[in-house]
Amino acid sequence: MKLSKMHIKTLREVPAEAEIPSHILLIRTGMIRKLASGIYGFMPFGWRSVRKIEDIIRSEMDKAGGQEIHMSAIQPAELWQESGRWFAYGPELWRVKDRNGRDFCLGPTHEEIFTDIIRNDVSSYRQLPMNLYQIQTKYRDEARPRFGLMRSREFIMKDAYSFDRDFEGLDKSYDDMYKAYEKIFTRCGLTFRPVEADTGAIGGSNSHEFTALSEVGESEIAYCEKCSMAATTERAQCVDAPADTEEMLPMEEVNTPGTKTIEAVADFLGMPQTKTIKALLFVTYDEEGNEKEYVAAFVRGDRELNMTKLINALNIPEHAIEFADEAKMSQKTGCVGGFTGPVGLHDCKVVVDSELTGLRNLCAGANKENYHVKNVNYGRDYKGDIVTDLKLLKEDDPCPVCGAPVKHARGIEVGQVFKLGTKYSQAMNAVYKDENQQDRLIVMGCYGIGVTRTLSAIVEQHHDENGIIWPMSVAPYHVIITLVKPGDETQEAVAEEIYSRLSDAGVEVLLDDRDERPGVKFKDADLLGIPVRITVGKRAPEGVVEYKLRREAEKQEMSVSEAVAAAIEIVNAEK
Ligand code: ATP
Ligand code: MG
Repeated sequence: MKLSKMHIKTLREVPAEAEIPSHILLIRTGMIRKLASGIYGFMPFGWRSVRKIEDIIRSEMDKAGGQEIHMSAIQPAELWQESGRWFAYGPELWRVKDRNGRDFCLGPTHEEIFTDIIRNDVSSYRQLPMNLYQIQTKYRDEARPRFGLMRSREFIMKDAYSFDRDFEGLDKSYDDMYKAYEKIFTRCGLTFRPVEADTGAIGGSNSHEFTALSEVGESEIAYCEKCSMAATTERAQCVDAPADTEEMLPMEEVNTPGTKTIEAVADFLGMPQTKTIKALLFVTYDEEGNEKEYVAAFVRGDRELNMTKLINALNIPEHAIEFADEAKMSQKTGCVGGFTGPVGLHDCKVVVDSELTGLRNLCAGANKENYHVKNVNYGRDYKGDIVTDLKLLKEDDPCPVCGAPVKHARGIEVGQVFKLGTKYSQAMNAVYKDENQQDRLIVMGCYGIGVTRTLSAIVEQHHDENGIIWPMSVAPYHVIITLVKPGDETQEAVAEEIYSRLSDAGVEVLLDDRDERPGVKFKDADLLGIPVRITVGKRAPEGVVEYKLRREAEKQEMSVSEAVAAAIEIVNAEK
């Protein structure tokens, strides 16, 4: 392709709203174009890379036995009502009405639709197992779209669904997908880590996230260097501190004026924060959006509450809980903002971190302005409606598997696999007849990859101060020929010759024949990140050109044939 004929618009300026390298570079290269918040289109270079990622996904999915289909993006509300997710998915579900007032949504994911197909089409065990997938545009009305393609409201996803006779079959399907994902992300040039993950709004039992390591990623992961433990911090279990052996002392109310935080009260009383109890107050909502109940969660003073664990313990959707208005909650439950403790609290659900049950003589709010109570003990002085692990696993906390100090890293969630089990087949009555003509629930798994988020993650991991450095496998073009002096007949002839020899060998080549200064062309080639650059300039009459890889600093002078051979070799090895 000749660059002079292409629709390309690179920007010199960094757009103000773009904060992270991938967003800045995808905009500066003109690969993506913003239409509205979290909504982007793809220009020729961007779309070529998207399609390469899709092709990698397709080939590995097909090898793993997947069959590609394509369902509509618009989904009728009835199916979501059947599964219970019309409410559970919350405001992220992009709801629309047709002209007759019938409810639909723009699909954020397709479990209901695929379950519906299978319950209609599968009757016998002989038809299972089966794996269906699609690559399709998804919609999520994200509260905070940001970072360009990373968290957008319209994005491309590959979603696959497996259907098995039993849980053993599911284990195998899950394992096959897990391995396919490892191949896909490796071929995309990503450095990634599969980690155990929470199942969120999708549901099911087990799940892994595939996380592309990056400082700008929104996923926080905890891992252990001594054993194989690796999980998102949302999911990671946290080890309780060992139980105290000291005697329970009598409770004692103490005046602690103005000490509304754990830090303040611990300082004031001269005790470590590990001897205090922290309260967090919430209100939950029902399906109509009315207040349902108040919730008080308690963790040791130095710990942080893990919101995902609390939501799972309450068995409610993420959007159905928020921090309580303390003044309002106080009237009903007796809590007092800044001085709330578990003793004497009423008319609210009390959720207690498991560790607190073994600790002795802690200091908690007295539910009275400017007062705390010392020597509070679980069992004797208060009880929890729910007792469970509510803690966030922090860096250097003991590993839940082997006890060594854990490490933290950040990453971008590029894919996630779930063992759904019978969650959807039960809700939607998807059954098959086994060998004995008995009805049995189909056992499901689902598997997503954010195609456009993967594009961002690749740029995030492969760039320098001059631009993108595409891995060959996903580069919009493999080679760019920079013609230094358009109009110079010899240079043009040499460039054309290289162009046709490479094209004939199946290499995707760009010819920068634009009437621009060489400096501009070199800058654009670096910005666009084409893996191989062949420069045709002064020494063209001798048949000598310059060969340079984007990822390396040095250039080499070569004959035309050598440059063509070197380019073909590296493209074939890495594409
Ligand atoms: P997140 O936790 O980042 O909101 P999720 O866990 O809700 O994502 P899944 O339901 O697992 O996402 O969707 C499958 C894949 O789709 C994700 O692994 C991610 O790569 C991609 N994805 C999800 N939401 C977005 C989004 N808003 N923009 C771009 N890609 C997304
Ligand atoms: Mg996910």
